Amino acid sequence: MCGLFGVYGHPEAANITYLGLHALQHRGQESAGIVCSDGQRLYAHKTMGLVQAGFSSADLAALPGQLAIGHVRYSTAGQSHLRNAQPFAVDYQLGSLALAHNGNLTNHEDLRAQLEQRGSIFQTGADTEAIVHLIAISDKPTLIGRIADALRQVEGAYSLLLMDEQSIVAVRDPHGFRPLCLGVFPDGAYVVASEPVAFDLIGAELLRDIEPGEMVVIDAQGLRSSRPFDSAPRRMCLFEYVYFARPDSTLGGASVYEVRRRCGARLWDEHPIDGATREDTIVVPVPDSGVPASIGLAQHAGLPFEMGLIRSHYVGRTFIEPAQSIRHFGVKLKLNPNRGVLEGKRVLVVDDSIVRGTTSRKLIGMLRGGGAREVHVRIASPPVAWPCFYGIDTPTRSELIASSHTIDEIRRYLAADSVGYLSLDGLTDAVYGIEGRDRELPRDSYCHACFSGEYPVPVRPPHPRQLRLVNA
Ligand code: AMP
Repeated sequence: MCGLFGVYGHPEAANITYLGLHALQHRGQESAGIVCSDGQRLYAHKTMGLVQAGFSSADLAALPGQLAIGHVRYSTAGQSHLRNAQPFAVDYQLGSLALAHNGNLTNHEDLRAQLEQRGSIFQTGADTEAIVHLIAISDKPTLIGRIADALRQVEGAYSLLLMDEQSIVAVRDPHGFRPLCLGVFPDGAYVVASEPVAFDLIGAELLRDIEPGEMVVIDAQGLRSSRPFDSAPRRMCLFEYVYFARPDSTLGGASVYEVRRRCGARLWDEHPIDGATREDTIVVPVPDSGVPASIGLAQHAGLPFEMGLIRSHYVGRTFIEPAQSIRHFGVKLKLNPNRGVLEGKRVLVVDDSIVRGTTSRKLIGMLRGGGAREVHVRIASPPVAWPCFYGIDTPTRSELIASSHTIDEIRRYLAADSVGYLSLDGLTDAVYGIEGRDRELPRDSYCHACFSGEYPVPVRPPHPRQLRLVNA
């Protein structure tokens, strides 16, 4: 759960990166950072919290040059601490280097142990730092050679942006777990971002996705693409379509909104409600995560779509705070039942996913408290029963309600009249059938480990290093 943005050849590189990160803020709210170059030196500013709060105009004015990379972070490996904020910027044998990462390395523990054995000293608890060390100790003569050399030793999920004083390098791991796309300004300046929504805000145009296993170098000679790794089966993350990406993004050629709408329609086919009529049944989204799927379901079922839960826009997402107690409180802070539309109705409440089940349980209580006669839960993805080791922040297996409960046990825990989850086939069909998507791709081109437990790259449960050194 992180967002990446980079720009090359723009006179206001840092300001553009700031805007790009703002558009990617949904991918991580814990820390933000920008590193830029004036052609001679790298300049960095990193901050905890949101982009808007952490960068003043004076901070941005102190970031000169025509190339920059930026990062927004939600910690998946390493603690929430400014020391773990990215991009990482270091001096090494060939000059200065900055690196920003989205994903999780599955062999991080081994790499770190080997590097420490050789004398490497780690500054952070994040898996990403191992890549910096591997680049620093590589014997290849150029940065590009060293990046390829380092990444051949790394396993797992990585979309990466790297830069030195004069170039930007964008890399996507051979499976393509996490997204990364390439755009261009009308004057020819290139931009790279986790999602194309970042291009909309700054007036750049989406050129294409960076392909799994592709390395793109942008420098004074223009743009060059290479494929330095052995090819591997594509495994783009399905959960990006379900929850993580913004609905106005296009990933892998498919509109995220359209995928979610289709999931909703299919959900109705898979789990209809007997005897539902326009007079007594309403479709209510969990805002904002369930909105596109609810629209799809309501349109397909011919039922009214109503905002039965109203969201306050002045609180962050419920998952912002890692502490359980705050998250519970956050649901109430964020949503309130809309009694006028709920009174006496059968309510089909639609959300994108259930993780621990605590949010849904509270919401169902709210809907009943608001006058709903029946509450039927519809979830526009399969049960999340397995943790993600490739960069989405999911809790451990024991905390995932679907790992240890049957659908009927979940229904009872939620106190719902019925619960229906979309099948994995339904979700895959929704992605696969989209106009504009690359139809030659085989159906198994996606990672669905969180639903199926089929991990494309072998995993061991990670033990993120705690920082032993305390900066008070
Ligand atoms: P819960 O079942 O209480 O753990 O939370 C479910 C809610 O969390 C749903 O509304 C989802 O939209 C949202 N959600 C799903 N996955 C994640 C995630 N990895 N991080 C943050 N929120 C998530």
